[in-house]
Amino acid sequence: MKVWCIPQGIANETGERMTERTKYLLDESAMPTRWYNVVADLPAPPPPVLHPGRMDPVGPDDLAPLFPMALIMQEVSGDRFIDIPEPVMDVYRLWRPTPLIRARRLERALDTPARIYYKYEGTSPAGSHKPNTAVPQAYYNAAEGIRRLTTETGAGQWGSALAFAASLFGLECEVWQVAASYRQKPYRRSMMETFGATVHSSPSELTQAGRAVLAEDPDSPGSLGIAISEAVEMAAADPTTRYALGSVLNHVLLHQTVIGEEALLQLADAGETPDVLIGCTGGGSNFAGLSFPFMREKLAGNNDVRILAVEPAACPSLTRGRYTYDFGDTAGMTPLVKMHTLGHNFVPDPIHAGGLRYHGMSPLLSHIYELGLIEAEARGQRECFAAGVQFARTEGIIPAPEPTHALAAVVDQARQCAESGEQRVIVTALCGHGHFDMSAYDSYLAGELVDYEYPHEKVDAALRNLPSVPA
Ligand SMILES: *Cc1c(COP(=O)(O)O)cnc(C)c1O
Repeated sequence: MKVWCIPQGIANETGERMTERTKYLLDESAMPTRWYNVVADLPAPPPPVLHPGRMDPVGPDDLAPLFPMALIMQEVSGDRFIDIPEPVMDVYRLWRPTPLIRARRLERALDTPARIYYKYEGTSPAGSHKPNTAVPQAYYNAAEGIRRLTTETGAGQWGSALAFAASLFGLECEVWQVAASYRQKPYRRSMMETFGATVHSSPSELTQAGRAVLAEDPDSPGSLGIAISEAVEMAAADPTTRYALGSVLNHVLLHQTVIGEEALLQLADAGETPDVLIGCTGGGSNFAGLSFPFMREKLAGNNDVRILAVEPAACPSLTRGRYTYDFGDTAGMTPLVKMHTLGHNFVPDPIHAGGLRYHGMSPLLSHIYELGLIEAEARGQRECFAAGVQFARTEGIIPAPEPTHALAAVVDQARQCAESGEQRVIVTALCGHGHFDMSAYDSYLAGELVDYEYPHEKVDAALRNLPSVPA
């Protein structure tokens, strides 16, 4: 059992010392034993996934070359809860439950009556929320006799998480890392290799998809969409290999609900009901992981929480993308999913939040956005890094560039409270630390970081390449 509830002496308004806890419920009683599937509680079912050739709904057999059957069944499941297998629980216990921390020093710096809590996923082996799904994905693949996993990685967080998980379950792991990040973040590659994975810069000469991109642009910085094409192509070519995706899909969002289930219990322990939940969205998994359990309670009438997604202005799939069927990858090899998309050929500008540079948004989250159950906004990277630096200087954790998007919105909310006197309870997902992202902080501190305008022309061009789907 892990006990990490540090009593902290702080001064209250009258100057007296009082003891208040800053971290909540850190023993196993906060750990859920089931994942939560929000599909069971939605007022309308999500649209079907379509076969890219036949244009009719895919069945489990269509997905079998890419994923193990246990994950396919989770992908299409309508069950409200799914038990977490004991071998997965056993690995989760290495770092879960993760702390829920009240950001008292940030509150004081902002002079706000708001109460700010962050659920910190940076304590995991990879330094982010990604191992929450990497571990069950490796477990189910190993259980079905798979030998090797392929995947893509943008910022390097997902590749590190899968490399770690694969090593625990005796699987080989091969990672296509987006070229820009391969160059910018050599130590993410070292980390993956330390866990035993093989890492390629993407686009690579190893796949048809990679060679096609290199033929057009030998200096391509790569994109998540291209790297996904490469990893999918390699998995489809070998019956003992499967592909693993770190975000976007229903089963990934499902696994991430351990974050929100713990936060529900920890907030109750703190005697709080949240008014606002804020998370960053790349493919949507950390945001969904935190928010879905609270959404269940909201749909049941137990809270009235606002749920806010924050995405980069340079890649604003939820707020500016079209809600339509598109491919999940650049080469057009994946099934067609209905989602908010900027077009599968869209290559976002090289913002530092590599994990948020994806052309689409989780289909499930896109559907939930259409149902009006969440709100979304887009922000430029400079104000996000400013919030990240303020967080580091008050709370002592250097956030990954991705969650600084959520922090910028948290700071805004807290400022509004400072003006209105409202005592809002704000909860955010601090989904990773930025220890491998220091070159991004270097650029920010040197004043070299630029904000990119919304890339109208590139998006319009990419949207002209959407696949046509019969109504
Ligand atoms: C991967 C990643 C993201 C983006 O992915 P989501 O599925 O939207 O969570 C955000 N933050 C961190 C730290 C990541 O590693």
